[in-house]
Order: sequence, then C-alpha cells, then structure tokens
Amino acid sequence: MGKRYLEYIDSSKYIYKCKFCKCHLSSKDHLISKNFTSGSCRAYLFTNAFNVYYGESKRKELLTGLHDISYVYCENCERKMGWKYIWAAKPEEKYKEGNIILERNSLYKF
Ligand SMILES: [Zn+2]
Repeated sequence: MGKRYLEYIDSSKYIYKCKFCKCHLSSKDHLISKNFTSGSCRAYLFTNAFNVYYGESKRKELLTGLHDISYVYCENCERKMGWKYIWAAKPEEKYKEGNIILERNSLYKF
C-alpha cells in the first residue's frame, strides 16, 4: 500500500488535529458549535473535516431523534473520531445534515 496523501490545513485560526497521530482534521473556520455531546463526552460540530473517511450509513435513535449517521475515521491512524449526520428526522435537527461531529476526546487543538 502506498503512502497516503494527507492534507495540510493552512489557517491562521485554530487547527483541530487527531489527538493520536496529530493529523489535521479541521479548523475553527469550519466549526459550527462546541455545544454537543457524544455519550458523556463533549463534541464539536464542523461543516467539514479533512483526512477522514466515512463508514457505512446507519440509522440511529439519538437523544435528538432518529438520524442516519456515518462514523468518521482518521485517514492516518484509522481511529474513530466521531460521525457525520446524513439525515435527521426532525425539522429542527435538519441543519445538522451533512455536518460532522468530532469528539473532543479525540481532538488536539493546535
Ligand atoms: Zn489520527
């Protein structure tokens, strides 16, 4: 297997990196909210993430209703970083569709 090409985020604002391999995942330019939870952990909502790949879409009952989500994995170290919202049942949750949750426990803020 060849060496993976990883994107380098060039931003004057905060860069969020994978805590385990320091790979760049997103930046403050893409941050929507820090006010999310994943189980008992804090999580951040981003419009975009880099150097990640997505698992298969799954239907899940979350605290905010029924959602289709795909788990998000670090492209470099393959650890689970969070998930992407594919679809939300409730109208008030629709804004999350296409956006990405990254768990704070997996992030390293540079
Ligand atoms: Zn990583």
